[in-house]
Amino acid sequence: MRDYYDAILVYIEELEIVDTHEHLVGLEANRERETDVLQEYLTHYFNSDLRSAGLSASGLRQVMDHTQPLMARWDIVEPYWELARHTGYGRSLDVTVQALYGLDGVRRETLVALDEAFRQTLATPGHYRRVLKEASRIAISLLDADGAYDPALFRPVVRLDRFIWPRNLQTVLQIEQEYGATIRTLDDWLSACDAALKRAREQGAVAIKNGLAYVRSLRYEPVSLRDAERGIAAMRAVRHMPDWEEQPVNVDVAFQDAMFHFILGLAEREGLPVQIHTGIQEGSGNLLTNSDPQLLNPLFIQYPGVNFDIFHIGYPYQHTLSALAKMFPNVYIDMCWAHIISPTASVNALAEWIDAVPVNKISAFGGDYGFVDAIYGHQWMARQNVARSLARKVDEGVFDVSRACEIAHLLFIDNPVQLFGLDLT
Ligand SMILES: [Zn+2]
Repeated sequence: MRDYYDAILVYIEELEIVDTHEHLVGLEANRERETDVLQEYLTHYFNSDLRSAGLSASGLRQVMDHTQPLMARWDIVEPYWELARHTGYGRSLDVTVQALYGLDGVRRETLVALDEAFRQTLATPGHYRRVLKEASRIAISLLDADGAYDPALFRPVVRLDRFIWPRNLQTVLQIEQEYGATIRTLDDWLSACDAALKRAREQGAVAIKNGLAYVRSLRYEPVSLRDAERGIAAMRAVRHMPDWEEQPVNVDVAFQDAMFHFILGLAEREGLPVQIHTGIQEGSGNLLTNSDPQLLNPLFIQYPGVNFDIFHIGYPYQHTLSALAKMFPNVYIDMCWAHIISPTASVNALAEWIDAVPVNKISAFGGDYGFVDAIYGHQWMARQNVARSLARKVDEGVFDVSRACEIAHLLFIDNPVQLFGLDLT
């Protein structure tokens, strides 16, 4: 088994892979510079494990305050860091620091040197390229972030969530300004949404993203567009309020449901795949059942012309996702974020999917990080995890090492290229 693993990993190490999902600032020049290594590395993910281990919210705020002395902040975080170090998030950071800075992980003995080396990267242009291209061998990353981006590194994905749930009048006014519209009727709103998608297409968008499972259920009822009229009334209802008030726009669930159906219609018309957050929500607490991919089942039936790229292996609903990807030609599994949520779950899930799901239905990697360094650790763990699953299948006699390598090529490159219509040349 070990020999199979080594042989497959040697092949996978060399691949220039597609990264299906990142949250980086699109231009390195716009990277946050008022920070240090502890603050940057705790902007997400590992901070949630620290909170889970018992670090208080106020303790975390102190640890992430780069204006305070570094080692005093380490004193606060160290007990929790040691408890969480072996999670996927913790390992991703240690792997990153070993590879990018030649230091033995994030720990008391390395922290000062690490912070110095990290600050160097803020002062030396080219860090994105060094991490993403040279160290991580990523051909292109799909970018879930607004604003300008470097086309040598990224292809954008457009979020239309604010058209589904605009939250406040400020968002509505912003949309009016961006698209030169005044929202008086539902038609005005739909036209603005269509215009947003068209503009995103012109700017290179290769997919639509829905991240609303953080705030509502993934069950979108098949309501009629007429039911959305009340949402426009909700926008009107706060127009008179002064801008120092909150001006919340309380659109009802029917409006949100109708809008997502409208957007899926646009996706079908444009031939754009739709990426959907499912499974565990980042942060310290949420309603997990809201994000069960099974709730999307009716949409897969209603929109056979839309390809759905289901994020994060649906963790911990990866078995449900297996059945959905098996049942539906238009449902694809995306392993973004998964390799660091749980390396073992990712290895086991992939081994299960290879038994149940055709190998063209899975994309193996998306870093899903908001800071560039840890993408290195994540892609390295993803390559190892995929090699482990494939080696297990070779050991079971399902295929040989050379077929395992072909499958790795599909998972890391060909499948996302095909699904998102990417041109890597
Ligand atoms: Zn994400």
